[in-house]
Amino acid sequence: MRILVTGGAGFIGSHLIDRLMNQGHEVICLDNFYTGTKRNIEHWIGNPYFELVRHDITEPIRLEVDQIYHLACPASPVHYQSNPVKTIKTNVMGTLNMLGLAKRVNARFLLASTSEVYGDPEVHPQPEEYRGNVNPIGIRSCYDEGKRVAETLAFDYHRQNQVDIRVMRIFNTYGPRMLENDGRVVSNLIVQALKGIPLTIYGDGSQTRSFCYVSDLVEGMMRLMNGDQIGPINIGNPGEYTILELAKTIQEMINPDTDLKFEPLPQDDPLRRKPDITKAKQYLDWEPTIALQEGLTKTIEDFRKRVEISAAEAAL
Ligand code: NAD
Ligand code: UDP
Ligand code: UDP
Repeated sequence: MRILVTGGAGFIGSHLIDRLMNQGHEVICLDNFYTGTKRNIEHWIGNPYFELVRHDITEPIRLEVDQIYHLACPASPVHYQSNPVKTIKTNVMGTLNMLGLAKRVNARFLLASTSEVYGDPEVHPQPEEYRGNVNPIGIRSCYDEGKRVAETLAFDYHRQNQVDIRVMRIFNTYGPRMLENDGRVVSNLIVQALKGIPLTIYGDGSQTRSFCYVSDLVEGMMRLMNGDQIGPINIGNPGEYTILELAKTIQEMINPDTDLKFEPLPQDDPLRRKPDITKAKQYLDWEPTIALQEGLTKTIEDFRKRVEISAAEAAL
């Protein structure tokens, strides 16, 4: 099959591309390198089955493909809030263009949506039926409401134009290739511990998140794309940790001598988050297989290499 991955030079997209290429598909990676990097996919450059297209999805594009994994959108609060209008455009105009493309070429379309559509949830854990508690005018809204519109667009193209859609709600995912300056909690804490500087905890660290290792996530994503269920379906690891627990785990694993530093909690930061994955288990026969410690070990290894290389470069 010929498969388009938007946001393919990003963290999750590049892992997905590795899987698709190894299965023998033809892959087009479309990215504007806003938060993605060529380094993530450089090992495929020159392969005749791989094509890299630098393009901003807020502009239309014509391609001929069989499937579209639509991942293009900055995912870290630091990045999506640095240009919120662009984030909305990417989610709304970008998703519209990719759905228009799916409609024209009759391609199956998978939207990488997010647990953020549940906002600061009043229901715990979050099942797909929960409609969420999202602030429409806060600093996270460009992303949360943007993804909610993206889901609406997908379902309207499905009902109105029979586009074959799949909607996946991704919960916090981590793993190798997250950017060192990504700004999300796992990458921040690992980089800080490796550099021996204090680990930043926003608020008192009692807020919770559920962290899914990237290979598990990609497996769930591919099962959803190639199955019959259109979704929305939650994909995430139900293991729930407070941010303080996460920080202490990383501190223990890397450098028990580093300090913890408490900083103000950002506005609208959700208090807790944990996926109800009953549907993923039932319909996709999927559940995560990598526990937090194991996933962190692999992630730390990858960051250690990169932090050492940048330190060596800085010393030159
Ligand atoms: P990422 O920032 O590493 O990747 C996003 C990619 O999209 C980057 O390569 C970026 O350059 C590209 N991009 C952004 N705007 C674009 C535009 N206008 N045109 C073309 N390319 C553009 O993030 P990620 O963690 O890999 O997330 C991938 C997808 O999964 C996103 O849609 C995100 O919302 C979703 N998601 C991720 C998580 C998570 O924890 N990682 C959680 C929920 C949802
Ligand atoms: N589009 C695109 N590539 C395609 C087909 C459509 O980028 O191959 C864009 C198109 O420019 C439009 C959007 O997708 O902005 C929605 O397309 P659709 O055909 O649904 O709507 P229309 O073009 O009729 O407004
Ligand atoms: N967080 C933190 N220290 C950091 C970065 C984030 O304590 O250095 C907190 C953040 O306030 C949030 C949680 O960790 O409560 C997860 O943040 P992240 O940005 O990774 O993802 P999201 O808020 O989108 O789930």
